Amino acid sequence: MAYNGAKGIQYIKNMGHVDSVFPRQVISSIEAHTILGHVRYSTTGSSSAVNAQPLVAHSFDQTGIALAHNGNLTNTRRLHHKLLQEGQIFHTTSDTEILLTYLFRFRNQGLINAIKKTMEIVEGAYAAVIMDQEQLVAFRDPRGFRPLVIGKLGEAFVFASETAALDTVGATFLREVEPGEIVAVGPDGLKSTFGQSRSGRSLCIFEYVYFARPDSVIGGRSVYIVRKTVGSLLAGRISAKLDMVIPSPDSGVSAAIGLAETLKLPLEWAVHRNPYLGRTFIEPTQAERDLAVRLKFNPIKVLVKDKRVAIVDDSLVRGTTVRVLTALLRSAGAAEVHLCIASPPYKYPCYYGIDIPVASELAALDTNFDRLAVTIGASSLTFAEPEDLYRAVGNDNHAFCTACFSGIYPGDLAE
Ligand code: SF4
Repeated sequence: MAYNGAKGIQYIKNMGHVDSVFPRQVISSIEAHTILGHVRYSTTGSSSAVNAQPLVAHSFDQTGIALAHNGNLTNTRRLHHKLLQEGQIFHTTSDTEILLTYLFRFRNQGLINAIKKTMEIVEGAYAAVIMDQEQLVAFRDPRGFRPLVIGKLGEAFVFASETAALDTVGATFLREVEPGEIVAVGPDGLKSTFGQSRSGRSLCIFEYVYFARPDSVIGGRSVYIVRKTVGSLLAGRISAKLDMVIPSPDSGVSAAIGLAETLKLPLEWAVHRNPYLGRTFIEPTQAERDLAVRLKFNPIKVLVKDKRVAIVDDSLVRGTTVRVLTALLRSAGAAEVHLCIASPPYKYPCYYGIDIPVASELAALDTNFDRLAVTIGASSLTFAEPEDLYRAVGNDNHAFCTACFSGIYPGDLAE
């Protein structure tokens, strides 16, 4: 967290869950009129404390800026090389420092102009919030890969990646920051301007599938309803005879409800998830992810014994979780385990802020789904089709980035 109070911009950051990095006594010691918080999910750059955001840059006169960034720049390598040649020193391995560097260089022209100039240089995905001594400014890349919303809490303005965060702090949703928009908070309220002209919307469709919380609303659509709708549509694609539907906890819940409702089958909470362990996808290595999944799940044998079960998950990326879940259900006595995935096969790497840079790690690289089912240990494997997802999000597939399953990348990929 970076905060702006009587002593200027200061920050507290560390590795760990929010409640361990910010215990109550730390939170209550902060006196500030503006606060910028960030929970880092590392994409470009390693998972280390030095890369934790917000990144803060100070100058000798004690003024400075703090920056929180969600997304991933696509011309990082080129800009990094260029800046190094110009004599720039980097303190992190995060692409966010490139954003920070340009914003800091241009800040004497005013924060808004600094953002506009920086937007002409950086490419890729950024939903970001920056503060200096006077202002808090949110800005979003011209394609709007990552969501960014504005809320009001009393007289204060709140920016967040998702509406669920606004609900949590009791703020009222005002609107989204538009792709390419720069929104500044000042004494007269919000001021809006646009950086670069828009080059077509490309909101990450996987925000609906996996990333966003089900209690969030993006682009006017409930994430929960989108997932549930894809689950319902999946029902028409499954040929196996089933006795029950089981959600992969908790990522498959919304889709499993839609599937069970449409197939008129019981929905059973047959895999218990240890609530004290976090998201396995975010563990940095495969070995750590496997171990985390095993520690996390336990099937309820009396429910699944001799049953033909459908286990539903929102996506199949590396396949870590479903491999373990399938094996656990089989060893708990399930007669058949049919794997149902409420999104199309994830076949291409993401360069816009999702941590799957190596194509060889993707389970669905094997396009023979019968063989892939065997590899996973499932009796069958069914994916949603792209049109199921497009229908669920409102039939406007041109408004979304779909690159990880369509292979069509929006804009230029600089490297
Ligand atoms: S490639 Fe996939 S995960 Fe990445 S931004 Fe596009 S839709 Fe989202």
